[in-house]
This record gives sequence, C-alpha cells and structure tokens, in this order.
Amino acid sequence: MASTVRTRFAPSPTGFLHIGGARTALFAWAYARRHGGRFILRIEDTDVARSTPEAVQAILDGMQWLGLEADEGPFYQMQRMDRYKEVIRQMLAAGTAYHCYTSREELDALRAEQEARKEKPRYDGRWRPEPGKTLPVPPAGVQPVVRFCNPIEGVVAWDDQVKGRIEIANAELDDFIIARADGTPTYNFCVVVDDWDMGITHVIRGDDHVNNTPRQINVLRALGAEVPQYAHLSMILGDDGTKLSKRHGAVSVMQYDEDGYLAEAVVNYLARLGWSHGDDEIFSREQFVEWFDLDHITPSAAQFNTEKLNWLNAHYLKQADNARLAAEVANRLARRGVNPEAGPALEAVVALYKERVGNLNELADAVELFVAEVHPAPEVLAQHLTDAAKAALASLRGRLAEVAWDKAAINQAIKDTMAEHGLKMPQVAIPLRVALLGVPQTPSIDAVVEVLGREAVLHRLDRYL
Ligand code: GLU
Repeated sequence: MASTVRTRFAPSPTGFLHIGGARTALFAWAYARRHGGRFILRIEDTDVARSTPEAVQAILDGMQWLGLEADEGPFYQMQRMDRYKEVIRQMLAAGTAYHCYTSREELDALRAEQEARKEKPRYDGRWRPEPGKTLPVPPAGVQPVVRFCNPIEGVVAWDDQVKGRIEIANAELDDFIIARADGTPTYNFCVVVDDWDMGITHVIRGDDHVNNTPRQINVLRALGAEVPQYAHLSMILGDDGTKLSKRHGAVSVMQYDEDGYLAEAVVNYLARLGWSHGDDEIFSREQFVEWFDLDHITPSAAQFNTEKLNWLNAHYLKQADNARLAAEVANRLARRGVNPEAGPALEAVVALYKERVGNLNELADAVELFVAEVHPAPEVLAQHLTDAAKAALASLRGRLAEVAWDKAAINQAIKDTMAEHGLKMPQVAIPLRVALLGVPQTPSIDAVVEVLGREAVLHRLDRYL
C-alpha cells in the first residue's frame, strides 16, 4: 500500500507571506487534500537575526485568511535544536560526517589557489577521513565544524515532478558544513532532518531551492531515509514580466485583504498561477482540490495578471452571500470609524451594490453613503438641487410620508410627482439621489429609497427642503 501523502510548507519568517509563498502553500495543501494526506506547517526560524515573531504571525494570518489549515504544526526549527544535534552525533559516530578544523585563513588561501587555477572554489576534503589517509593533528583550542561526507563518485539525480529529470555530478558538490563551530546546525541540514522526521513524501517548494536538493538527497541517503518526491515551482513574474517584488505593490497576501479582495478570488487566482485544468478559469476550492495534480504545473515562470484577479474578484463578489458581505463591509466601516449599525440593514444595501463594484472597499464606499451622514460638495448641490427640483422633492416627500413602503408604491409616488410637475424621470430621480446619497448615480432609485427606509429618506430630504 502506498504511504500516506505528507506535504509541508516551510516558510522562513523573515517577512510577510507573499504571493509566491502563498502559492507554494496552496499547492502543498491541495496536494495533501487531494490524496487524503496530511499538510504540515514548519517555521524555519533558524536565521535568528532575520526571523521575527511578527513575521510568524503574518504567515499564520495569511494562511488562515486563505483557508490553508495545517494538519500538523506549526513546528519551529528553533525548538528542534536538540534533535538536529543528536543526528549530527549519530552521523559522526557512523562516519557519514566528520570534524573539520580548517581555519578561515586556510579556506581563504585554498580559495585563492583554486581561483588562480580557474577552478570552482570548493573545500578540498583535507579533514575527511579516508582509509589509509593520515589526518592532520587537530590544532589546540579550535572548535571544529562538522562536514558531511558527500559521495565522491557518481551523480545525484531525481525526477522533479515539475522540471523533469535533474542530475548533478557528486564531483560538483563538496563536503558542506552541517554544524558550525558553535554546534548550531546549518540550514540544509535542518531541512533534511525535518523532512525525514516529519515523514514528508512530497516536497513542493520554490525553485530557488533546486540547488539545495542534491545535497539534501545525499544527506537523506546517508541517514538511510527515504527520499521524497520533489516538485519545484517556478517563480512568479509581475504584470510587467519582471520578477515579482515590492515594486509591484501588493506583495503581502494580507495586502489583498486590505485592498478588498475576497480570499476565494485570491485562492482561485493563485491556483491558476502556474497550474491549469484545461481552459477552466473559475472553480471552487473543492473543485481545485479534486483536480489538482503535479503533472499540470508549468515549468516556465507564471506571470501575474492583476486584471484577471480583478475579474475573478468581481465574479466572487456577485456570488457571495449577502450576510457574509455585510459582515465584511461592517468590519471595513468600523475601521473607518463609521458605525455600521447606524443605517439600514447592511445585507439589503450590499445586495444593491455587489454586482456593481470591483472589491470590498468599493462596496464599503457605497454602503457608507447609506450609513453615515453624506455631505455633497456645494457645486453638486447647486447643479442638481435647483428650485424646480426642490419643489418636486417637496411634493414627493409628502407622498413618501404616506405610501406603503415597498418598491412598487415608491415607484408610483415618483411617477405621480413627475406627472404633477411635468418632469421626466431623471429630473426627479437625479436630485433625489443627490439629496439622499450625495451622488447623482446609484442603483435603481426606488430600490435605494426602499432600502434606506422611510425615516432616513424623510430626514435626508428635510435637510434641503
Ligand atoms: N524556508 C525556505 C523558504 O522560505 C523553504 C525551504 C523548503 O521548502 O525546503 O524559502
């Protein structure tokens, strides 16, 4: 029986969860879900100078927002130091790692010689134990580093699930340091012990780690561990075709939340970023999980397309449940210092606007007009609230004070006012919009009046009459 799929997301908490990291997490999560496996979150915080608790929190927030729940973890590498040191001791005992006393000066000299000979600088194995070789005498008072005995012959190869077969000659790899002189384990070593201990079957990660993979595979083999499958995802380019960076604006996933995107739009967008299922553009998270595979990940770089993301966001806004949109808008209004309970029921207002806006901030802008006092610019008032318009609004006010409060009755009241004053629809509706919401354009005016409610409508009209 095939072993259970176990994937992981292993961010270094040195900044926000950015779009590239989020896509990696999404793919690793989806692969585990697709195969009924487990998705593990591991925080690679050994770079103590650059890792911060705020960044850990930002990563957790970003994953929560996207709905990428981990089945295990978060595990923190800093809490696993004893384990790494234990494995280093075992490797020293087994002869798959050795102490190296080469000083910085000696390494510099070695490098200079190699460069002079136009060779690639690499450690020359001078402390590596070999049968029949006499090792130098360890210098007194020097703490050694620990180096891995990389195989000397042959190649290390793997069938990358995205990039195809990759082969590196072992001669290209030197005996890399797995523990520094102070005993702390190095990055590539921690990753290996973790992937081993956590039983990872599929390593899905950014292709900036392709160069680490042969070293990691060699260490796994030396430990007698099973080598996982690797899938290295290509990078993401910005809209302009250059490597995605801060210059492109929203790089943190939470910035998309801030900018009014729905998480499901971002997830759907990220799913299509370097992976495809035919021409399907719009699909739910469940559908994605059902379809996701490693075969349809493109090995070439994926280009970010903000227009497509905006299109998806508008689509999901239209589809979204009114209660949910109302809650999202209420949060946004509260953050603006606007009391979301001061006006009509938000669900009714969002229903009027959700097909007309591109994001939640635009939706909140529209809803705010119903909830907070509106102060139209004097020139807007002068243009639309002419004396003739005010006279019509005054008689409309009389009717609205009495009618049954439904769209049909409100519509009739407007029509009666038009007839009475010899006006056309826009000549009543536009001044009414300006008086009620401060803007000349709104959804259907009878719906706006109905949703705003009689009391608010009369109160808002009275300010100008
Ligand atoms: N911590 C690494 C990073 O943030 C990922 C390591 C891995 O996935 O193996 O890029």
